Amino acid sequence: MSLIVQKFGGSSVADAESIKRVAKRIVDTKKAGNDIVVAVSAMGDSTDELLDLAHEVTPIPAPRELDMLLTAGERISMALLAMAIKSMGYDARSFTGSQAGMITDAQHGAARIVDVTPGRLRDALDEGAIAIVAGFQGFNRDTKDITTLGRGGSDTTAVALAAALGADICEIYTDVDGIFSADPRVVPRAHKLDRVSSEEMLELAAAGAKVLYIRAVEYARRHGVTLHVRSSFNNNTGTIVYNPAAISPYAAAVLNGETVEEPIIAGVAADLSEAKVTVVGVPDIPGKAAQIFKIVAKTNANVDMIVQNVSAASTGLTDISFTLPKSEGQQVLTALTNEQQNVGFAGLQYDDQIGKLALVGAGMRTNTGVSAKLFEALFEAGINIEMISTSEIRISVVTRADTINEALRVVHTAFGLDSDDEAVVHGGTGR
Ligand code: ADP
Ligand code: ASP
Ligand code: MG
Repeated sequence: MSLIVQKFGGSSVADAESIKRVAKRIVDTKKAGNDIVVAVSAMGDSTDELLDLAHEVTPIPAPRELDMLLTAGERISMALLAMAIKSMGYDARSFTGSQAGMITDAQHGAARIVDVTPGRLRDALDEGAIAIVAGFQGFNRDTKDITTLGRGGSDTTAVALAAALGADICEIYTDVDGIFSADPRVVPRAHKLDRVSSEEMLELAAAGAKVLYIRAVEYARRHGVTLHVRSSFNNNTGTIVYNPAAISPYAAAVLNGETVEEPIIAGVAADLSEAKVTVVGVPDIPGKAAQIFKIVAKTNANVDMIVQNVSAASTGLTDISFTLPKSEGQQVLTALTNEQQNVGFAGLQYDDQIGKLALVGAGMRTNTGVSAKLFEALFEAGINIEMISTSEIRISVVTRADTINEALRVVHTAFGLDSDDEAVVHGGTGR
């Protein structure tokens, strides 16, 4: 008998029919003799709808109340799923995040899990029941308030439960057959990966591949949880996300002892959620970058790429550009403007029409010419590169937002990643 944690995303529980389909799938796993804990997301796009509603009421919803509102979405799906399972003759009990022992810090909207105390889930399992947990939510002991883990956070709920309960596997059920070499909605010829290292998946998730939430991948890597990302619409094997340095028995069994050499490139991802700030006419003397980024850091903005141009000898001035999430743009511009006199720069430019493409692969470490091939592919498609940054296993470029999908497709083709068949997207709106 195994203990399996299964997570069903919003697209898998979008309506009553889907909930019944998922209930049947859970019951089948139970019938096969397993203990099951389920983490479930809100139905379809209902989190987005609640968010829209909040913004209709007020432009800046109070964070505590927003979390209260958004957690209602998962409460609906967990109860419906438990009802559906019960109607099939199996015992099921739903639990909110706090009932399930998901203890977090107090940061509304992006809370981090600090402890998991799943006593009530254990009791339910011991009594033969299936435990259904509302994803994406937790509880802070100091404020006694309900928190959310950030968009896509049900993945983290599932991984944290798998770690705390010592589950054999954490299955992430979604609307595509696994993790692909690119988003199949944008690159129809993307191919499914049978496996991907957690290190590569971290880079892909950070670069915008929303199939897995980055914090969930991090958590899984840290706690030795193996993930199996697969479709809730069929029984195909999906993608195993594993840590090559610590292969679990489950991963070993699925990977069949194969020690195949990993491909050079795992995949490409794109992110349209960032904007570019350019600080124009910065005096090119020691200490200016430090001054600028200290101001930025005080706003808690998540700066990503940074580029400083060579200064023009005649003026002794330089430009510094950086990218950050659009949602943090305004506060950073305000903070910098307030300090313009002190720093002595000439002006600020803000550009929210950028797209960031990332090419990811562990094989980059030992292969040369990857960046040249990437730049060549973009050049041939007439796509201009505005910024470049690299890590050991990733190359990222910034382009115009309206060229990003084309960029993904040409890079995918250039690196020989195209499959012969078109990828199937089973449901969801991709929102
Ligand atoms: P869920 O509702 O199950 O959480 P999400 O919408 O969060 O599903 O994630 C699944 C979606 O992620 C897919 O429908 C797909 O469009 C998108 N996606 C982006 N990049 C990838 C990728 N590399 N592989 C698979 N799916 C991807
Ligand atoms: N319902 C939440 C969201 O849409 C959490 C999740 O689905 O993972 O972000
Ligand atoms: Mg998701």
